[in-house]
Amino acid sequence: MTKKVYLSEDEIPRAWYNIMADMPNLPPPPLHPGTGQPAGPQDLAPIFPMALIEQEVTQERWVPIPDDVLNVYRIWRPSPLVRAERLEQALGAPVKIYFKNEGVSPAGSHKPNTAVPQAYYNKMAGIKRITTETGAGQWGSAISFACNLYGIECKVFMVRISFEQKPYRKLMMQTWGANCVPSPTSETNSGRKILAEDPNSPGSLGIAISEAVEAAVTDPTGQTRYSLGSVLNHVMLHQTVIGLEAKKQMEVFGDYPDVIIGCAGGGSNFAGLAFPFIQDKIEGKQIQIIAAEPTSCPTMTRGPYAYDFGDTVQMTPFLAMYTLGHTFVPAPIHAGGLRYHGMSPLVSQLVRDGLIEPRAYHNLETFRAGVTFARSEGFIPAPETNHALAAVCQVAQQAKEEGKEKTILFNWSGHGLVDLGAYDQYFAGKLTDYVLPDEEIQRALKSIEGFPKP
Ligand SMILES: *Cc1c(COP(=O)(O)O)cnc(C)c1O
Repeated sequence: MTKKVYLSEDEIPRAWYNIMADMPNLPPPPLHPGTGQPAGPQDLAPIFPMALIEQEVTQERWVPIPDDVLNVYRIWRPSPLVRAERLEQALGAPVKIYFKNEGVSPAGSHKPNTAVPQAYYNKMAGIKRITTETGAGQWGSAISFACNLYGIECKVFMVRISFEQKPYRKLMMQTWGANCVPSPTSETNSGRKILAEDPNSPGSLGIAISEAVEAAVTDPTGQTRYSLGSVLNHVMLHQTVIGLEAKKQMEVFGDYPDVIIGCAGGGSNFAGLAFPFIQDKIEGKQIQIIAAEPTSCPTMTRGPYAYDFGDTVQMTPFLAMYTLGHTFVPAPIHAGGLRYHGMSPLVSQLVRDGLIEPRAYHNLETFRAGVTFARSEGFIPAPETNHALAAVCQVAQQAKEEGKEKTILFNWSGHGLVDLGAYDQYFAGKLTDYVLPDEEIQRALKSIEGFPKP
């Protein structure tokens, strides 16, 4: 039996797949935060380079990947597609399991797939400096890696609690030449406002986004832009290299999935694997497509679908999405990448149209699944990836109970070697389950009261 399929370098896709060309309903447009009218390219120009704004709105099915980006992709792409037959045995279920290993990139996750083109388009637009935020540090390290390749200065606002608890990601950023500071800072109006209310604020992704956006748009030289690692349409687009490669690799295996699974924070690694297969589903293929999120941050399974801000201080446009409210401060679970209050508008729309099935998983079952994987397939998954694995275990269990054979394909979004502290706490019995209380959902609804309705 073949264990894994590598493609050759000239089989890296030459174009990204844009699901907007095929989805039954497009998401409602982003709205200007001041006027409530659809935000045009000019509104976004101080934040993003025009090439990325165009990718944000284009409805062309295929968007060519620049040669220079392909050259950088070659550092780690194509990534392997692996048959997890040892995990199959461990689960003892009538399932075939395949995973796309996105942990082989320099930063250790799928995030460089979009960090590299984002840095490239900024470079082409003459931008000298990129600001961004990072939660647990994966995005910060990916964009630091990419900026370094293109000679762009990189400033990362890292959520303070993670900055203090997770020094290794910060050191990765430093190694790639970036400047990483704990947010909230006293360098921006947004940061000062938060610190005035709470000098000991642990920070949040929403606050860090506000600081990074502000730092970009207030640069008097006009040579700074902001960069976002998930949620937006152009990020989903870049990540489709994952699914496009996986489709070819499944063909080499002579197989096709019944079930596709990914974990979802802002939605990008999930979308990257799933969107090229959702195209087949729209054309009539029977595939179950599951997005796995934490019960502590149940954006799709319990949040309202609404217009909301992408950040705490209301600087970004209104996005139509599932949301727990822009003021949401998540419980400190270890899957830092899954703690964002919102969800990609494209993923949200596809959930509404019944093409994607969201499911929520408890903290402890995700670690159990991750350890089962590490003890069968060897690689240690990121805590985020463990949510996808919890879904894999659940689907396998159900197949066993029903006596039905299933072929599962999931995205192994990243390795957990910089997150071993989380495993330490798990083994020490210090991790607990956390289900977001109903009051929090009510609070989320209050925080978006009076906003435009999608
Ligand atoms: C950031 C991250 C995620 C979550 O982000 P998405 O945009 O939803 O993909 C998942 N897994 C890993 C390893 C990450 O670093």
